[in-house]
Amino acid sequence: MNAFAKFDNPGHVKSYYAATAVAQSPRPAFEGALETDVCIIGGGFTGISAALELAERGFKVVVLEANRVGFGASGRNGGQIVNGYSRDLETIRKWYGEDKAAALGRMSLEGGDIIRERVAKYGIDCDLRHGGFFAAFNDKQVREMDKVRRDWEKRGHDGLEMVSKAEVGHYVSSNRYVGGMIDRKGGHIHPLNLVEGEARAAEGLGAQIFENSRVTHVHTGAKPSVSTEKGKVQAKYVLVCGNAYLGELLPAISSRMMPVSSQVMATERLDDATIEKLLPANYCVEDANYVLDYYRRTADNRLLYGGGIGYGGQDPKNLTSVILPNMLKTFPELKGVKIEYAWSGNFALTLTRIPHMGKISGTVYFSHGDSGHGVTTTHLLGRILGEAVAGHAERYDVWQSLPNFPFPGGRMFRVPLTALGAWWYGIRDKLGV
Ligand SMILES: Cc1cc2nc3c(=O)[nH]c(=O)nc-3n(C[C@H](O)[C@H](O)[C@H](O)COP(=O)(O)OP(=O)(O)OC[C@H]3O[C@@H](n4cnc5c(N)ncnc54)[C@H](O)[C@@H]3O)c2cc1C
Repeated sequence: MNAFAKFDNPGHVKSYYAATAVAQSPRPAFEGALETDVCIIGGGFTGISAALELAERGFKVVVLEANRVGFGASGRNGGQIVNGYSRDLETIRKWYGEDKAAALGRMSLEGGDIIRERVAKYGIDCDLRHGGFFAAFNDKQVREMDKVRRDWEKRGHDGLEMVSKAEVGHYVSSNRYVGGMIDRKGGHIHPLNLVEGEARAAEGLGAQIFENSRVTHVHTGAKPSVSTEKGKVQAKYVLVCGNAYLGELLPAISSRMMPVSSQVMATERLDDATIEKLLPANYCVEDANYVLDYYRRTADNRLLYGGGIGYGGQDPKNLTSVILPNMLKTFPELKGVKIEYAWSGNFALTLTRIPHMGKISGTVYFSHGDSGHGVTTTHLLGRILGEAVAGHAERYDVWQSLPNFPFPGGRMFRVPLTALGAWWYGIRDKLGV
């Protein structure tokens, strides 16, 4: 298990992850002028995955991070390695045709593989555990999972298995569920330690990473460059990986996604018997509702529980007001247990729930909008950005060809309209229809 940091990781939000991350002093802010092959905006999974891929391929890489590496969703999430995308492959086939579904299907396990390979190759200490459980509240959800399983198996995923009501207790001790599905190729990690470990691996190969270095302007053009308050980086390629934290830097791409917040909390440490009873297999769990709960054990025996959703990135006044009641519905025996950490983070939602990748101009690329499931896809898409820069754009071409649409209602009404849609799906989940 990781040595606890002696300090509270300044520059990160206060969270279980920041408090337990491997100690890492802030990197220097960028000043002056630099020329490089590739300048990456944003030090989350997408940006750091691309940086490591490119550094491994021998490119000169500079990463500019506005806060700290892992400051955004990548250092705050549920830590669940969930394979695939936020839309199932059958929906992708119906929308985009068999060729696109087949291409995305072939890539759908790669993000998890990249994580496991890098953890092994670079010796990253991030509490990696294997196995995930998808929990169903009703028979309709079980049938949908089984359909997804059959579709995945046709496409070569051999880690899935349906779980009957009688077997649910092997994975989670809650009487809310009527069955589910396990994914042996899923798992969980301490995400801040993962992204930090990958950042250090990239630095070991020569990448330069600057923190507290917000990009204030991107000069797109034949010779792109990127400005911060105190300097300018001239690069052959620029990769924009700011996701939900990009703000107004590049409105043309920000209007294609919406920041959405989700809240997470961690209990006090539970004794071995209690935590092993709740989650005997130490798999991570997510339920099958539209607005879902996700939870898992931490390496130091806490229950880390997430859920809730705030369209536009707004949080409830009290961060635990949605997730604590849900946790107690799932595990009533935890009534009275202390909640030691609660935090929130923003992910970027696209209208289709499919990540959005493309170019702003000649050699300025972007990737964002992994929606609720980004731990694996950000690793995959970071690699694909690296491939495109290296001149192997076949897989990039598949992704950039997927249509992406602005949210209906424009910036003013996209939040209430999306919330209305989610409310409708929430009612359907409650009724099991
Ligand atoms: C609470 C929560 C729980 C989640 N749980 C899961 C889960 O369990 N499993 C799963 O698969 N997915 C989960 N997700 C989604 C997943 O975390 C994200 O999809 C993924 O981390 C996005 O990575 P990213 O690198 O694209 O963005 P981020 O990690 O948000 O990184 C973007 C970075 O860009 C920086 N930046 C922005 N603008 C600038 C600028 N102008 N200059 C310099 N830097 C800039 C930001 O500071 C930030 O560090 C969760 C998300 C949240 C918020």
